Amino acid sequence: MKYHIVTLGCQMNLSDGERVRTVLDKAGMQWVDDDKDAELIGIIACSVRQKAIDKVYNKIAQWNRQKNNRNLITFISGCILPDDYRKFLKLFDLIFQMKDLTKLPEMIRQYGISSPLLQHEPIKSAQHDMKDFWSLTPSYQSSFEAFIPIQNGCDKFCTYCAVPYTRGREVSRPSEEILKEFKQLIDKGYKTITFLGQNVNSYGLDKKGNEINFAELIDKAATYADASGRRIWIYFTSPHPRDMGRDVIEVIAKHPSLGKQIHLPLQSGDDDVLKKMNRKHSLAKYREIVKDIHELIPEATLFTDIIVGFTGETEKQIENTRLAVEEFKYNMIYLAMYSPRPGAVSERWADDIPKEIKSQRHAYITKELRKHSYAYNQKQIGKTMPILVTKRDERNTQYLSGYNEGKITVRFLSEDNSLIGEFVNVEITGASEFSIEGKFLG
Ligand code: SF4
Repeated sequence: MKYHIVTLGCQMNLSDGERVRTVLDKAGMQWVDDDKDAELIGIIACSVRQKAIDKVYNKIAQWNRQKNNRNLITFISGCILPDDYRKFLKLFDLIFQMKDLTKLPEMIRQYGISSPLLQHEPIKSAQHDMKDFWSLTPSYQSSFEAFIPIQNGCDKFCTYCAVPYTRGREVSRPSEEILKEFKQLIDKGYKTITFLGQNVNSYGLDKKGNEINFAELIDKAATYADASGRRIWIYFTSPHPRDMGRDVIEVIAKHPSLGKQIHLPLQSGDDDVLKKMNRKHSLAKYREIVKDIHELIPEATLFTDIIVGFTGETEKQIENTRLAVEEFKYNMIYLAMYSPRPGAVSERWADDIPKEIKSQRHAYITKELRKHSYAYNQKQIGKTMPILVTKRDERNTQYLSGYNEGKITVRFLSEDNSLIGEFVNVEITGASEFSIEGKFLG
């Protein structure tokens, strides 16, 4: 049977999608690049953004029309809100939760005979044992970059976010399994590995003393990677400022294998907005963490997430966010204009900042970011640094593109595609606001 999968949403979903492919491949099915050639099509959905949900409805309408002319089974899994779940039951042939992934081949085999899936209750069962799912070896999509889920779900309940309702409460994956998967990837020669979770640094807390904590987990992983004697960059995303202790920063400082780049979501530079977002951290707490980073890892780059135009955000409050960007001198901000997400608490509040004002605030914060990222990138000129080459540059195909240890995009002229997936040395010769350029040294 030929199959195709469409993955929407975040890196967690991409990682889940890799495991779905493993199960289908093991069941003897054959991947096809074009959904028109597939007899089984699945979606790994994201209920968090309305755009992604609209895409699911478009796709399933298309596929259900095609059923008039060909044999086709459709399934859906991933991040699904209870309301969408009920609607999808009527549209898709199969719907299941990731923790039940190992049963998918059986569900497909039985399709048309019985439908045990209809009894599922998405939220209640989200905390069930994920062991079978996590013990699957995923079909990694890259031979040099891999993502390892260490935790699923979230306990933080930020008011603008639906993740605690789609993925359920925080569940940590057993550390032996994480380290087993990690070591296998290192032994296979992977160059970079990212630990994934909604709140990676609250890893283990749900196990109430029966599991190591996040600092200990990355310490163990990095000790193994360091011992390989090879260059390896380990990252994690995303941590939550509330649980970001000095111990985590000390471990990053200690190990050459832990990438010197930290993504620390700020969301807003104003304490009242942070409170309304239920972020459970203040600007002062955030400032303490950045101080520790500067003290212990002065070379680290700093990335963040910010939302502009949150319900009721005033001019004064956006100005506080700009001041925070000025103070923390980010290298990159994943900047979003607020929009109410289905299922989130803030959906009930007025989305009272007009679209044009949100765009202006977006541009205002971007302008502040550009100053700092450009100043940092300029300082790299003349330095020679290792780059992990990841792809051919999409805009100018004479260039290869990749990133340095601080995850700043770097490109250089080269026709040699065999460098993709390798570390190379590059001398930096030019800088723009969001990337640097260099000369390939070998
Ligand atoms: S934004 Fe808040 S609620 Fe959503 S996943 Fe992150 S910490 Fe959890």
